Amino acid sequence: MYSNPHATTGLAITTATYVITQDESLAFAIGIPLAIASHYFLDYLIESHLSKKEIILYDIVPSLIYFVLALLSGHFWLMMASWVAGTLLDLIDKKLGLTVLFPKKFKTLRFLHNQKNGIRFTLKQTKIASVVSTIITIGMMLVLKQL
Ligand SMILES: [Zn+2]
Repeated sequence: MYSNPHATTGLAITTATYVITQDESLAFAIGIPLAIASHYFLDYLIESHLSKKEIILYDIVPSLIYFVLALLSGHFWLMMASWVAGTLLDLIDKKLGLTVLFPKKFKTLRFLHNQKNGIRFTLKQTKIASVVSTIITIGMMLVLKQL
């Protein structure tokens, strides 16, 4: 799965933890480990391959939007920690994204990924997943703004 849905899932978990506990420290202490764990299960949703242009449009641009939303949320570090936590397993196995940008030079590891079967997304569903993730991220940012 690409980074945007992972980041959004991490953020939804930490935001929900914050809402339930009304305590940002607990949102970090409980939410971040759960956000890291969510990655493994989310990778059973197997997205279609995106071209380089599509990666820019459906993963890099949404990541920049996420960053701007983090600045506006009033909880910048919680949002950034949620992004790192949600994508952490890929940051490790995909060597901070180098394997995506330079697939010939850097080979993806599978230390933290052993999913073989899962639900396969069409190209259209893969793109929709990214757009829906950004809409959810906007919603979570608006929730965090109130806290
Ligand atoms: Zn992954």
